[in-house]
This record gives sequence, C-alpha cells and structure tokens, in this order.
Amino acid sequence: MPGVIHLLPESTANQIAAGEVVQRPASVVKELLENAVDAGSTSIKLFIKNGGSTLVQVDDNGSGMNAFDARMCWERHATSKIVKAEDLYNLNTLGFRGEALASIASVSEVEMRTKSAEESVATRIVINAGTLETQENVAATQGTSIAVKNLFYNIPARKNFLKSITVETKHIFEEYQRIALAYPAISFEFVNQGKEVSKLQGGSLLDRISDLFSVKKEDLIVADEHTDIVNFSGFLGSPKTAKKTRGGQYLFANGRFIKDHYLNHAISSGYGGLLEEKSYPFFVIFLQVDPAKIDVNIHPTKHEVKFEDGRYVYTLLQSVVKKTLGAHFVVPTASQLSNAINSNPTAPRLHVTQPDGRFNPFETPKPRVTTSWEKIDDLLNTPIPTTRQPDIFTSQEEQPVQSADIGGIFQVDNTFIGRHFSSR
Ligand code: ADP
Ligand code: MG
Repeated sequence: MPGVIHLLPESTANQIAAGEVVQRPASVVKELLENAVDAGSTSIKLFIKNGGSTLVQVDDNGSGMNAFDARMCWERHATSKIVKAEDLYNLNTLGFRGEALASIASVSEVEMRTKSAEESVATRIVINAGTLETQENVAATQGTSIAVKNLFYNIPARKNFLKSITVETKHIFEEYQRIALAYPAISFEFVNQGKEVSKLQGGSLLDRISDLFSVKKEDLIVADEHTDIVNFSGFLGSPKTAKKTRGGQYLFANGRFIKDHYLNHAISSGYGGLLEEKSYPFFVIFLQVDPAKIDVNIHPTKHEVKFEDGRYVYTLLQSVVKKTLGAHFVVPTASQLSNAINSNPTAPRLHVTQPDGRFNPFETPKPRVTTSWEKIDDLLNTPIPTTRQPDIFTSQEEQPVQSADIGGIFQVDNTFIGRHFSSR
C-alpha cells in the first residue's frame, strides 16, 4: 500500500525556501547586491520601482556568467562559492547557500543579461514563477543585470503583507547603505522611480560614511585594534553623535552586516559614562575573524552569526572601545590631575592637551564629560584582554538588551526620505 509521504516538486520547495530568504523587496536587494559584490564588481547600480514590489534591478560590471552558468544559477543549491561543507569555515564570499536566485525566481518574473570575459555574446534569460521562458544570445558588455519584477505576483497572500511603498523603500535603502558601507571601494548608484537618489564614488570608508550620513568627519574616531582572535577596525562616533535610538549602529563581521544586540551592547557600554542614559552612539565597526571561528550559517538571511567565543568578543569589543575613546579624549587622568595639583599648588587646575585636528570634548562644555574624570581615567587604563575571560559573565549568554529598531540616524521617515533621496 502506498504511504502518505511524497516529495515536493522543486517549484514548491523553492517557494518554501523563498519564505525564509525573500521576506520583502529589500531581501531581493540584499541578495542581488551581495551577488554583485561577490562577482568582483567595481560599480553596482540599483534600480527600484514602487518600493521594489514592481521592480528591483541590479546591474554590475563583475565577472558575469557564461551561457551554462546563466542557466545553472537559477537552480536550487547551485553555487560557485563552495564545493563542500567544510568550505563554510574558510569562506570569503557573502553568498554560499546557492538558493537566493532559485527562491527569488520562484516568486517573481525575472529577466537576466549576463556576459563573462571569455564569451563573445551575452545570455538573456527570462523566468516566470520558476519556469524558464526564454534563453537566447544577445549583445551586452561584461557583467550581469538581473531585473526582478512583480515580486510575489503568484503568491497573493504574501504580496498583501508588503507595507507601504515608503516603508519598503526605507528597508531597501537600509540594505543599500549596509552594503555600501561594507564595500567603500565599490561605486554605487541608487535610482528610485527613475530618479537618482544616491551616487557614491569608490573611496575610503571615512568618505563613504560622510557621503551616507550627516555625521561630521571630525566626530568620527578611528578604531583599529588587532588581537589574535579578532581584528577590529572602523569608526566610533564621538559621544555627541549619540541618538535616542539604535539606528546608527553598524556592526559587520567578516564583511557582513550583522544584527547582534549583544555585541552592539558591548560597544555602547564601552562608552561608559560618556553617554547620557538611554542614548546610543553612532558607529561603523568591522570585526574580522578567522572564518573557522564564526558560523555564518545559522540563519537563511545571514543577518545573524555565531562566534565561537561570543563572550570573549563581547569583552574585547568593550575594552577596545574604552581604550580607543580614552586615547582620543586626551585629558589628564584623575591621578595625574591630583599629582599636578599636589606638586604645584599654583598650577592651573586643569590642563587639557589636545592634538591638532582632534575632537575637543571641551568645545561645548558638557557637564557629563568635564566632570567624569574617574570615568575617563577608567577609559585610559583599560587593558585589552589577550586571553579568554569566560568568568566575566555569570549570567546567561545574552544580555537583556531591548530589541533594536533599525533606522535611527535618519529615524523620522520624512527626514530620511528627504535627506537621502534628494539627488546630488
Ligand atoms: P550563492 O550566492 O549563495 O552562491 P545565489 O543563488 O545567490 O547563490 O547565486 C548562485 C550563483 O550564481 C552564484 O554562486 C554565482 O556563481 C552566480 N551569480 C549570481 N549572481 C551573479 C552576478 N551578479 N555575477 C556573476 N555571477 C553571479
Ligand atoms: Mg547569493
């Protein structure tokens, strides 16, 4: 007697996978931009219409694909990035699951043109709801253009879950910003509804940050620390960049933006008393870890990763932030101050050394800075832990950090659209 179990058709399996990978148009943007980065592009253009629901298109000048790969890339578990499971622990690409394109194609109408350096002609492919409609040779330059139209047109229930065009556009802009931040050497362009809303020249991280955000360069403090386990680089916003929301917190692990409230908390707490209560500093911080010590495959969208020793990374981050801020705000420590006063009673009560061009915390007198000598003393005397310190946390792994609502630095919808979406 036949049983009740049967294998799902590939198209259904892809649609189910799409439920995880493709949550909204911004997910398509993320996957296409990541593929363009992985393809070694130096210039990437993003076009959207109607919050991405009718069009998300990414054009790149990367490696492109030959006719065979152009067809293959739409198959589930089709990837050029890993061969075996162990490769996951030696990964230097953003993608690896080989399911993004198959998932996207199963819930939309897709048109791709792609050409590799070796081929003399490009391949054009059209796929509707996972079914190949057209494959032909066309003329095109090297690189890839993928247009994803009418997302969820074949799954009305999911289409109905999309939010307003404004909200979906905001999510898309956030993905764009994250990738643009992580890859400042790449030029990016963003065209919304036929209008150019962002054009970024490839250059330094500092330029990229100031192109994307209304944070002054002099309010950004260079962070750069290398340990055996983690390399830490990027910029910490000075305390005056702090906001009441967590939106300006950009943490990347091995080139991926990660949503890690625990580690974001480590950074914020490193500011100690320099921050007002319930305010959150702006930062763009990159952690570089041996890929063997980080699991990037714990979530289909890869916005979460797991460190082999998360507690150590927490402690390290916190100390690096303290040390970086301490070194930046060059002020006498409490002990130096009392020594100075004891040895020379007529000396000025405060002597502040300030290297040229550095942020001066005394420019605008802020009581919480000028009176926090012990705290600055504490910052200056922070050692960087060189070994694991597993006993620091006696409580559970995750600190009770409130869930973050991404979007803060341009938090007010209108301002956000107004500021970033004006052509320059
Ligand atoms: P993954 O990125 O996890 O490998 P995807 O489904 O996103 O899976 O892509 C499948 C494959 O298609 C990639 O491994 C890559 O070889 C190829 N590919 C996708 N997008 C591009 C692109 N823009 N340029 C060149 N190759 C691409
Ligand atoms: Mg991919």
